[in-house]
Amino acid sequence: MTKKIAILPGDGIGPEVMAEAVKLLERLRKDFGLKIETETAPVGGTAYEAHKHPLPDATLKLAQQADAVLLGAVGGAQWDTLPRELRPEKALLRLRSELKLFANLRPAILYPQLAAASTLKPEIVAGLDLLIVRELTGDIYFGEPRGVRTLESGERQGYNTMVYAEHEVERVARVAFDAARKRRKKLCSVEKANVLETSGLWREVVLRVAKDYSDVELSHMYVDNAAMQLVRAPKQFDVIVTGNIFGDILSDEAAMLTGSIGMLPSASLDAANKGMYEPIHGSAPDIAGKGVANPLATILSVAMMLRYTLNEPPLAGKIEKAVSSVLDQGLRTGDIYTDGTKKVGTAEMGNAVVAAL
Ligand code: NAD
Repeated sequence: MTKKIAILPGDGIGPEVMAEAVKLLERLRKDFGLKIETETAPVGGTAYEAHKHPLPDATLKLAQQADAVLLGAVGGAQWDTLPRELRPEKALLRLRSELKLFANLRPAILYPQLAAASTLKPEIVAGLDLLIVRELTGDIYFGEPRGVRTLESGERQGYNTMVYAEHEVERVARVAFDAARKRRKKLCSVEKANVLETSGLWREVVLRVAKDYSDVELSHMYVDNAAMQLVRAPKQFDVIVTGNIFGDILSDEAAMLTGSIGMLPSASLDAANKGMYEPIHGSAPDIAGKGVANPLATILSVAMMLRYTLNEPPLAGKIEKAVSSVLDQGLRTGDIYTDGTKKVGTAEMGNAVVAAL
C-alpha cells in the first residue's frame, strides 16, 4: 500500500535541507520500489506570512492524514515578537500534541570519520552509537498544579508538579524496549528513584514491562550518574529511556558528544508508530539562503522514518551507509569541515548521498 508522507519544510534552512531529503525520497521511489506519495505544506513563520497562522488547518489536516511527517525547522527573529500563540515554535508543540507523539527518539551517532569534531578525545567517542528515548508529553513540564503563588510571608514561590501515571511510563518503556530489540539489545532506564516517588513508580513499571522483553538486558541509573557517564564512557550505552525533563537535558548533552548539530536526526512516535521526523537543529538564520547548511541530519531523519514508521529497515541501512560513504569520500559541509577534507554545499552533499545509494 502506498504510504503518504507530509513534507513540512518550514523556515530558514528548513527548505534547503528538505530539498535534499525530497531528492532522496524520489530516488527511493523510482529506483528502489518504495511505495510513497508526498504532499508539501507550509509551517512556522512561512505559514504565518501566508495564512496568518504557524499551523494552518490544512497543514494540520495533512499531518493527521499522513502516515509520517517530515519536518525541516521553524523559527526566526522576525517572528519572535508575535503573540506566543502565533510564534513558529507553537506549531511544533501543537503538532506533537495533536498527533499524540509521546516518545521522542534521538540517536547520537559519531561517525568515526568525524571523531575530530567532538570536544571529547576520539578514543572516547569514535564510533559512538546510542539512542535516547525521551517521554515527551508528561512530567513536570505538564503536571498540575503549577504556578507562582504568594506565601503568608509575602514572598513569592514558584512551583511545578512532577507526575507520571503508570500507562505513560509503560507505553514509552515499550517503545524503548522495541527499539533496543532492533539494536544491540541493551536498555538503561534513567531516573532519580533514590529521591523522587515519581521515579520509584517509573522503575517499578519499567521492571514490570521488562518481563515481556527477556531478550533485552535492562539496567537502571540515577540521572546525575547518567550525566557523568555520558561524558566519561558514552559507548557503554545502547538505548536510554527516561522522562521528559531528564531526557531534555541528557539528549542535548549526548548531541554535543558528536560535535555537530548538522548530523543529528530525531523521531517522535505515537502508539501506532506513526511519526514526525526532523533534524534536531533549528532554522539557522545565520546561514539561511547561502546553500551551505548540512542536509545530513534531515537525510538521516528519512532513514529513521524508513526504520520506525515505514518498516523498511534495509532501505534505512542503505541511507546510513551512503552517508558514511560520502564522509569516507572526504566531503564536508562547513559545520563539519576540517583541514584536508573537501568543502561542499547543501546540494552537492545531497547529490553525493543520492549517488552513493
Ligand atoms: P540553530 O540550531 O538554528 O543554530 C545553531 C547553530 O548551529 C548556528 O550557528 C547554525 O548556523 C548552526 N547550524 C544549525 N543547523 C545547521 C546545519 N544543518 N548545518 C550547518 N550549521 C547548522 O539554533 P538557534 O540559532 O538557537 O535557533 C535559530 C532559530 O531556530 C530560532 O528561531 C529557534 O527558535 C529555532 N529552533 C527551531 C527548532 C526546530 O524547528 N525544531 C529547534 C531549535 C531552534
